[in-house]
Amino acid sequence: NPTFDVLIVGAGPIGIACALECKKAGLSYVVIEKGALTNSLFNYPLNMTFFSTSEKLEIDQIPFISNQAKPDRDEALEYYRRVATSNKLNIRLYEEVQTVSKEDEGFRIKTNKADYRTSYAIVCTGFYDIPKLLEVPGEDLQKVSHYYKEAHSYTLQDVAVVGASNSAVDAALEIWRKGGRVSMIVRGPDIGDRVKYWVRPDIINRIAEGSIKAYYNSEITEIQQDQILVRTPQGEIALENDYVLALTGYRPNFDFLQAMGIRLSEDEKQIPEHDTETMESNVKGIYLAGVICGGMETHKWFIENSRIHAKLIVDQLRSSR
Ligand code: FAD
Repeated sequence: NPTFDVLIVGAGPIGIACALECKKAGLSYVVIEKGALTNSLFNYPLNMTFFSTSEKLEIDQIPFISNQAKPDRDEALEYYRRVATSNKLNIRLYEEVQTVSKEDEGFRIKTNKADYRTSYAIVCTGFYDIPKLLEVPGEDLQKVSHYYKEAHSYTLQDVAVVGASNSAVDAALEIWRKGGRVSMIVRGPDIGDRVKYWVRPDIINRIAEGSIKAYYNSEITEIQQDQILVRTPQGEIALENDYVLALTGYRPNFDFLQAMGIRLSEDEKQIPEHDTETMESNVKGIYLAGVICGGMETHKWFIENSRIHAKLIVDQLRSSR
């Protein structure tokens, strides 16, 4: 079995940052990633623009040069790709970690391809793989999606966008601009207050002029093949519908964490237990890094404030060797 000092689960920006720190510290390491490199970013909408400026997305102070104030998906993919390849990081893609089990010395990690031994594990698996579901009848219909990629297929179609945060607002605007008929179904009374400050006036004005219809304080109650039922303050209505984009957020894979013995806080935040100074979880030798640390609070950690986890962890490992 291949044996490492550190096995890093997930090759998102933070997994890459952890790999760089391990390399600098002279620790043997491997990153196991179930999808493509930076798989979450790869799955973002094609025209997505970050809310962070490029220097805040940098890892290990390697310059991220962008011609725009806020880089887009392609630039971020280019950046992390170059960081991983020019530093010759040891990353294995399309390999999924299935179990992490404690042994007398360190851990045994089983993937769908191999078995590894490691002294320490860093879990930085993010939260973009599991969407929060609407839990209404019809959600399993093919016309319903929890991810948005690009607008073209929605042209001349009746599209319901559920949600009012960045993902939902970006999708609604883009689809409307490409000739889709967009209704936003918003649970709260307004467009989300975290919507990118330069996008907010755009959506507010499109709604005010009637180009995009917004149903506030409303929820879908059922999705049917050619219509949706929506509970509004004025009562239940039916809207003609070809597609539903339910962009209501994502959540970490809690089962994966719990199966390796990590406890979650008992409130609705379900924060995985960890020491905020060392990032070590309640399982000695397993560390947490990146946005996973926030549990259901997926707006707490970003690349810009969680990239430091890599250094915190590796400093700790170095000193305990
Ligand atoms: P991720 O990038 O999610 O990486 C986790 C990786 O782990 C994934 O590649 C996944 O495939 C892999 N993985 C999961 N389970 C396993 C397993 N069992 N085995 C192997 N691999 C596994 N943040 C910002 O700082 N600025 C922004 O502007 C910004 N914009 C965003 C826009 C959108 C639409 C979204 C959804 C998020 C945005 N974020 C932004 C948040 C951003 O996604 C995260 O900050 C960033 O991706 C977190 O990095 P991470 O490495 O912690 O997790």
